[in-house]
Amino acid sequence: MVDLRSQYLQIKQEIDTAIQDVVDSCGFINGPAVKNFQEDLEKYLGVRYVIPCANGTDALQVAMMALGLQPGDEVITTSFTFIATAEVIALLQLTPVLVDVDPRTFNIDLNAIEKAITPKTKALVPVHLFGQCSPMEEIMTIAKKHNLFVIEDNCQAIGADYIFADGVRKKAGTIGHIGCTSFFPSKNLGCYGDGGAISTNDEALAKQLRVIVNHGMVVRYYHDIVGVNSRLDSIQAAVLKVKLKYLDQYAAKRRTAAEFYDKAFANNPKLITPARYTKSTHVFHQYTIVTRDIDRKGLIDHLNSKEIPAMIYYPVPLHMQKAYIDARYKPGDFPVTEALCNSVFSLPMHTELDEEQLQYITSSVLEYVNR
Ligand SMILES: *Cc1c(COP(=O)(O)O)cnc(C)c1O
Repeated sequence: MVDLRSQYLQIKQEIDTAIQDVVDSCGFINGPAVKNFQEDLEKYLGVRYVIPCANGTDALQVAMMALGLQPGDEVITTSFTFIATAEVIALLQLTPVLVDVDPRTFNIDLNAIEKAITPKTKALVPVHLFGQCSPMEEIMTIAKKHNLFVIEDNCQAIGADYIFADGVRKKAGTIGHIGCTSFFPSKNLGCYGDGGAISTNDEALAKQLRVIVNHGMVVRYYHDIVGVNSRLDSIQAAVLKVKLKYLDQYAAKRRTAAEFYDKAFANNPKLITPARYTKSTHVFHQYTIVTRDIDRKGLIDHLNSKEIPAMIYYPVPLHMQKAYIDARYKPGDFPVTEALCNSVFSLPMHTELDEEQLQYITSSVLEYVNR
């Protein structure tokens, strides 16, 4: 689905030097590379504070801890996302309240949010799925009205711009109270292992987030609150500092690939190509197609037999995952999510796709679909 090796070879010299510098300095934990990357990312995102951490899941967990959410508090998110979003809610003994998504953008359904709010609701977690922002302006209005926190799960949309009604643009992950992102290797800004970051414009929250990722420690060996150990290591930060410079170029390459796919499948009634949400740019973490009247498994098997990877993100809605089955929900409760889980598939999407590969992929898809 991604070609990390070819991408690395394009910037090998820079990456190798950056890694070697960390090894030479032996500043493996909280070395200057981490601070340098943090500052670069703050500048790139246009956000006051970035708190690096160990991965995107931790970012979400630490965000919920910093907001002081208590067991039993309700947190609203969608049933169509990667498990991490709901996992940390459950882990902290908060109550995940799931809602359906918009069938075109795959992001949280605004009408469903209002209906799910109760006196126990404390936070909303919109997920910017597949690289496109959720309707943040409306979400912030709902949050303000009901006095709720907003945590953006920005693990898939780093670099995307949200466009407000007045034309102002802000980066995904900088609009809610807290934004969370992941640097897992296959994410749009991926490191060479695990990594993550939390962003906020709120000084007090930033302070609290920093204390929590560092064992709840302000003065060394004095622990004021219960925290966790969640660090971005220096080697990963050094890799990320190099790759951040290329993030916009990478997004442009993904968009070019997406446009190739769009054109190839345009007007094919069996393949619904990804809709563009007018209030967000799209950074195409995934290129996800909704199939209609196709044997999806047959199509994926056909592609795989031609050495083309194809994946289903995501095959099972959260409310139907074994660990998350809950008397509050039953199959049929989130018809859009369930229909998507049964019909979507994603094609290879990365920065190194060339015309020849794209041609091969699209003609192989059409060969199966049109036969
Ligand atoms: C990848 C991802 C995460 C978790 O990130 P990790 O770094 O793998 O922990 C959380 N939410 C979404 C939507 C993701 O895609």
